[in-house]
Amino acid sequence: MQISMFILGNNKILPLLETSSVSSRHSLLKLIACFIPRYEKCTCNECEVFSGIFGNTFWHKNISPTMHQWLNKQSSTRLPMAAFPHLRKICNSGFIVDSSGRNSYLIHPERMALPTLYISGGRSLLVTPHTSFLAHKYMKLHQPGFRHERVVVEGFGHSDLLIGEESYKKVFPHILSHIRSAEQGRIGKGKKCRKKALDWEADDQYEGLGEFGTWFSPFVIVLLLFMLLSLLVSFFI
Ligand SMILES: [Zn+2]
Repeated sequence: MQISMFILGNNKILPLLETSSVSSRHSLLKLIACFIPRYEKCTCNECEVFSGIFGNTFWHKNISPTMHQWLNKQSSTRLPMAAFPHLRKICNSGFIVDSSGRNSYLIHPERMALPTLYISGGRSLLVTPHTSFLAHKYMKLHQPGFRHERVVVEGFGHSDLLIGEESYKKVFPHILSHIRSAEQGRIGKGKKCRKKALDWEADDQYEGLGEFGTWFSPFVIVLLLFMLLSLLVSFFI
């Protein structure tokens, strides 16, 4: 990520459209992005650059060709990358922090007095279902007076949960059901609820779902670093 920021220079907005005119720095970054390993390759140049930078955000089979076209040619045509150093701090911390790296949010659970629903994809992309497992536990512990639910939907990755062709059947009903339940009022505030909420160490019933191997071997990483260095040397000489 630091290398990306170095290559970008002062202009932190990366044009994604294949037809955009871009600086040589941006061209280099887009070229490198295409070589970064990811789960699914694509024939669309914009999709390749985007998923090279972020990782795949959806499983292709879950979204329609129309949605894929709209995403890559109309919706996400420019990628602001100034927030990436902040994202890096969050990833390194293992929990959400502010842009200075301080734990400013999780220390104030009292500010989140509301019902919550967590939906993770069971065929992980970008984030694992463990993230929603921890968030769900956190809210049950700190806001036991509200309804907190979690579902893991098999076959989905990340953004395809909301933009998938089957989302209206497999995902949205969970949202509607949760809204209805929440509108019916708070759940009990009694000891039973608190005891359940304090069951922090309980195992994730979805653990292991959708896990699969990766080909990000040390050899591939070393090879990619070598390619990156070669490109940088040829670019700046
Ligand atoms: Zn694609």
